[in-house]
Amino acid sequence: MATLTGQTHHAETSKEDIIRLSFPVNQDDVVEVRSRLTQSLQTSLDLNIVLELFFQQIQTLIPLSGIKYTHQQKDCQTLLGSDDTHKLDYRLNTAQDDLGEIVFHRSKRFNEHEMAVIESLLSTLVCPLRNALLYRDALQSALRDPLTGVGNRVALDQAHEREVQLAARHKQPLSLLAIDIDHFKSINDRYGHSSGDDVIRQIAQSIKAVTRCTDLVFRYGGEEFVVLLNKTALNGAHVIAERIRQHVESLRIESYGAQISTTISIGISTLNRNNTDSMLFQRADAALYKAKQLGRNRVEATV
Ligand code: GH3
Ligand code: MG
Ligand code: MG
Repeated sequence: MATLTGQTHHAETSKEDIIRLSFPVNQDDVVEVRSRLTQSLQTSLDLNIVLELFFQQIQTLIPLSGIKYTHQQKDCQTLLGSDDTHKLDYRLNTAQDDLGEIVFHRSKRFNEHEMAVIESLLSTLVCPLRNALLYRDALQSALRDPLTGVGNRVALDQAHEREVQLAARHKQPLSLLAIDIDHFKSINDRYGHSSGDDVIRQIAQSIKAVTRCTDLVFRYGGEEFVVLLNKTALNGAHVIAERIRQHVESLRIESYGAQISTTISIGISTLNRNNTDSMLFQRADAALYKAKQLGRNRVEATV
């Protein structure tokens, strides 16, 4: 059984403020809410649902404006309700795991009694939170390419469908880049497969570095990547594709004592306003084929 070993620190709530118990909470109510929480938090592995249930239940005893949950290592941040002037901060740890940080917000100061109630209820969150984080990790790793850390083909299929629908619904442009490393087989042949892997990894990082954080990057196959550029029409996609191409061309990839240079070819397709064509990938792939035929290390678009 995991235990809560985190300590508290409460920004903007000093000792002098904790003079009177402005919101005395009945101990029986605490026991009841604890038992309700223990049951309800076991009903979901979804992190947001677990936090939402916790937020709902805790509010039946202590009025709050919101709670903010953060797990920096897992790149995870959720705000339920809204933030406010007074904050109460808890780091949640078990002997094995860092479970992140939870901050309670409201307009009124927290008193000592309320803090004790919150701490008592927080202990019911530890196990469900740990399970939800493990579940989230499992889901994410099923969608992530292990070599590069970018999305895999399953993730691409899901995102492609979702982004095409969103773009059509909001009548916004959407572009897709199909990227393929040029003569990659000769890199493997010359430097070895492990260096080939280093090149794939480095190129994935370059694509991520050059694109916006809202752009979605996937490894589609061995040395092939796809980038989905939402709210981006052909001109914008061309600028980004050219930026990626130039960035990769300028790379000197260090691997096992060698310095490897390489290039990529890119095909672009765009879903325009009122365009319901969902063959985005196929069209970008055709443009990529054209880029290869026209000499590689270049960007081509479907017309
Ligand atoms: P082109 O310019 O026409 O794209 O030529 P290419 O050599 O890049 O294309 P080809 O499709 O012939 O070769 C792709 C190579 O990528 C063949 C395969 O061995 C290699 N490959 C596929 N997956 C991986 C991987 O995960 N790691 C490494 N190191 N190589 C891989
Ligand atoms: Mg290829
Ligand atoms: Mg290739």
